[in-house]
Amino acid sequence: MSRPDQPTADRVVIAVFDGLRPDLVRPELTPNILRLAARGTWFRRARSVFPSVTRVATSSIAAGAPPIVHGIVGNAFYHRAAISDRIFDTSDAAQIRRAEAHHDGRLLAADTFGDVLARAGKRLAVVHTGSAGSAHFINPRARANGHWTFSMHGAEATQTPEAVEQAIERLGPLPERELPRLQELAYGARVMTEIVLPTQPDVALIWFNEPDTTFHYRGLGSPEAMAGLREADRAFGTILDWVEALPDAERIAVIVASDHGQISTGTVEPLFETAVKGGFDLSTAKAINGATLVATGGISGEIRLREGDRGEIGRIATWLMQHPAIGHVFSRNRNGVEGEVAGTLSLDLMGTGHAERQPELMFILKSTLDADQYGLPGLGAMTPGGVPLGGGMHGGINPHELNTVLILGDASGHGGLSQEPAGIIDIGPTALGLLGLASAATMMGRNLAVPAREEARVVRHSAGSGAFAQHVDFVEQDGRRFILGGGH
Ligand SMILES: [Zn+2]
Repeated sequence: MSRPDQPTADRVVIAVFDGLRPDLVRPELTPNILRLAARGTWFRRARSVFPSVTRVATSSIAAGAPPIVHGIVGNAFYHRAAISDRIFDTSDAAQIRRAEAHHDGRLLAADTFGDVLARAGKRLAVVHTGSAGSAHFINPRARANGHWTFSMHGAEATQTPEAVEQAIERLGPLPERELPRLQELAYGARVMTEIVLPTQPDVALIWFNEPDTTFHYRGLGSPEAMAGLREADRAFGTILDWVEALPDAERIAVIVASDHGQISTGTVEPLFETAVKGGFDLSTAKAINGATLVATGGISGEIRLREGDRGEIGRIATWLMQHPAIGHVFSRNRNGVEGEVAGTLSLDLMGTGHAERQPELMFILKSTLDADQYGLPGLGAMTPGGVPLGGGMHGGINPHELNTVLILGDASGHGGLSQEPAGIIDIGPTALGLLGLASAATMMGRNLAVPAREEARVVRHSAGSGAFAQHVDFVEQDGRRFILGGGH
């Protein structure tokens, strides 16, 4: 348990822009984010976690720690103890209820900033336009905490359906889904300014589903994605205006963040099809069948041994390391750096080796810093899935997937850029620290409103086998470690 800092704010407002890359924070796209940056501190090197996907990132924001601590190790993962008959889709409200029942409400297996606020008698209100799962994991014990979570997916998608009912009563029916999600962004901002903020919750958080959604389906630089981003920024601007018009505005800290970035997909790699042709008994079906190995894909993915010979893990890891599309392979920890399979790096090193829920293997497909069709750096391969070729993706450790937006607008800010290590795991501890509350014992992030204790150290860890070589670069400071990127 860290010592509490002196409170420097009475309330905190957090706005998360799903999937926003810092290099798209531009005057013509995001004037309101830049308005906050002009009076705050922009942590330019802020980092997401691995795997850089939404529900893992959401859980990491909530818990102030990476998945090795909170146990949400993928957007979809095989959590056999809780849901034995299928791959756990963490976006799905019904599956979350099953998993929460198994874990007695501790599916997110660490205290969150919502839990800490509740113990201090303080309120967290969330307005969420993303999936039911992402709305859940930002404050997974919202009901027990006496808090309030609105979900754009309706009353069924939150533990506190009264939040949705209240919004509908005040603002009218939830908007129709569209791409980009313009009406949802505008509606979410109205829930904030007309319902949430007037009640003065200690922490209010809004999660914008853009630019992520339209990046995926129309591409990073597409006119539709830019329209979605502009509208998310405009919606944020109405919230910032509302806050700045208050007589005690200087006592309200505003944090703008993203959960991960995105890169463009240049190749679709039928990795698992090739593995099956090569003789592996492997299934990617959502329903668990008799296959020896169970896998999920994307830019990164996991492979688990369902049953049978443990030697299959070593054999498929070796096969992956010989596959030309594979950049990184990780397995369970051997010595803090290397995994138990020769040539792999450790899942613990990556912050993902949760004791009960880690898979046997994770992998990342290769990506580069080459420019995509819009001139944006970051181009990679993915396994076949719902995103069209050329669409945006995330999940790996390309710097443009990992680098997040993180701006702290508080009384201490002077409109500067900070190159200090920072990341999504710092958001919760910062919100708590601003209010004078100590972090939970399991939180690894720090309060960014106060100076770091240590100098930052950059370290590279490498492993390889035969012609396969991989490395990952990290920055370490104050007991936490951020992934900077990797190479192969
Ligand atoms: Zn996301």
